[in-house]
Amino acid sequence: MKILIVEDEKKVAKFLQQGLMEEHYTVEVSHDGEDGARLATSGNFDLLILDILLPKKDGLSILKEVRSKKISVPVIMLTAKSAIEDKVEGLDSGADDYLTKPFAFAELLARVRSLLRRGSNEKSTVLRVSDLLLDIVAHKAKRGEKVIELTAKEYALLEYFMRNVNRVLTRTIISEHIWNYNFDTGTNVIDVYINHLRSKVDDSFEKKLIHTVRGVGYVMKDEG
Ligand code: CA
Repeated sequence: MKILIVEDEKKVAKFLQQGLMEEHYTVEVSHDGEDGARLATSGNFDLLILDILLPKKDGLSILKEVRSKKISVPVIMLTAKSAIEDKVEGLDSGADDYLTKPFAFAELLARVRSLLRRGSNEKSTVLRVSDLLLDIVAHKAKRGEKVIELTAKEYALLEYFMRNVNRVLTRTIISEHIWNYNFDTGTNVIDVYINHLRSKVDDSFEKKLIHTVRGVGYVMKDEG
């Protein structure tokens, strides 16, 4: 699950990003309205968290752009303490929920979970590749009868592989998606993570799911 936070207060953005990543979400942050609008309308996110007061373009304008493009992603607005009108306008413009600053992280997390669950009622909440199952709400992985324990990063990697089954993923694409930046060429951090994940997913099974594509990257295959 990929979440976009558009928030110009860097400390707040960092705090939210950190907290959500610890909960196994992939999180991208934008600090201004223009850049935020570009990302928000990309269709690449499962949930948007939009601050209202932003430089260059405010959160309500971003929300209106998103809805005018018929993107039905759930949106949580962050509003200043006394701005009741903002809430009303936000909900009128198609926001799903709002939080008044300052708020507790647990409160945000509860709203995020509830919106993602609501959104996933129509879609399946379980990804399946061969006998590997990943519950994207409960964050639990299972292969056959074996429960697989995953770290936050391994979970994010596995979900990404499963959503892109049979597609070759380069190291660059993986690092952008999971870490939101490029590693220096020459570091093998991604390979280390993938090897850990691979041993958890494939080691005790005859059929291997994660394969190396030499010189390119990795692919999860559901056949062979
Ligand atoms: Ca702000």
